[in-house]
Amino acid sequence: MDSQIAENFRRLLSEAKGRNIAVAGHMRPDGDCVSSALSMFEILQAAGANVKCLNKNEVPHLYKNLAQFEFESTETFDPKGWDILLVDCSDLSRVSPALKEKLGDVYACIDHHESGTSNAKIMCIDKSAGATAEIIALCATEVGAKISRRAANLLFMGIATDTRQFTTSSTRQESFEAARRLVRLGADPNAVAQELYQRERAQKMALLSVYLGTLKRLCQGRVCVGFLRRADFEKTGAQKEDTDGLVDFARSIDGVEIAALLEELEDGSVKGSLRGRTPEYSVNKIAEYFGGGGHLAAAGFTAKNQTFDTILPKFEELCRKSLDRDL
Ligand code: AMP
Ligand code: MN
Ligand code: MN
Repeated sequence: MDSQIAENFRRLLSEAKGRNIAVAGHMRPDGDCVSSALSMFEILQAAGANVKCLNKNEVPHLYKNLAQFEFESTETFDPKGWDILLVDCSDLSRVSPALKEKLGDVYACIDHHESGTSNAKIMCIDKSAGATAEIIALCATEVGAKISRRAANLLFMGIATDTRQFTTSSTRQESFEAARRLVRLGADPNAVAQELYQRERAQKMALLSVYLGTLKRLCQGRVCVGFLRRADFEKTGAQKEDTDGLVDFARSIDGVEIAALLEELEDGSVKGSLRGRTPEYSVNKIAEYFGGGGHLAAAGFTAKNQTFDTILPKFEELCRKSLDRDL
């Protein structure tokens, strides 16, 4: 990892004493986002800051036991007197459009996304990191910050979820190095795995079953897309957070090179989750066309005033270009 990133992290901690810092992650938080926000809460508090953790949504079911913490809502938060640290995203529009309206500058940012622009004063950005939690684990151990057993478990969880158990194309030597340091600090991989992979809600499995039933192949079968409508959530009792990970099942099918989950939202927009078999397909560029972004092999968007029918023709065209490496 670039030594400048650890230097910037050191600066973040050295400026923390007496400062009000609100740590904010992207809406619909995933394991990496929860992990990054809560571990920075502990680390900044130990450095003498007054800290809050914000999110538009709640801590998802699977991460609740490890987190033992609830977020304060971005929607009711009054930013006056608070400096913002963004984690696992580089743009306030991913945190909360309402909060973006109220805020001027972002104080600091720790992130690993390919897309997004941050004009933060202190930046710890490493686009080749497997997870934001990986950046935090490496920097915190580098600068000698104290990491509790709880934070070590959370950070391990963040790396394990974003790297799909250390198997994504973003998994690198430093991902294992960070995990090694965390286990040394008391993280328990099996205890984390029991929380993550043996506690699924039955309603989520019902939603998965609906999703699998809608799968459709495009581009000579190389693209696989499935759909979730609002009624599917009522029918199964599933929650919004239960969509996390479903698209991986579409990608897991032999012959599928790009997979997508398209979800109908209440406000007349469509949320897309995209996965590529290899980073060469740059699915972030497909997501960017619809106003989103992400990584080369995993990206997403929320497109306003759209339906599945209005999205699909353009989506198919972009997938074809992407498969031809022409995006
Ligand atoms: P998801 O499919 O929601 O798991 O997202 C896959 C990746 O794309 C994650 O790294 C997200 O942070 C990123 N992503 C999802 N939605 C957006 C968006 N609207 N804008 C930018 N990045 C996104
Ligand atoms: Mn994330
Ligand atoms: Mn992440």
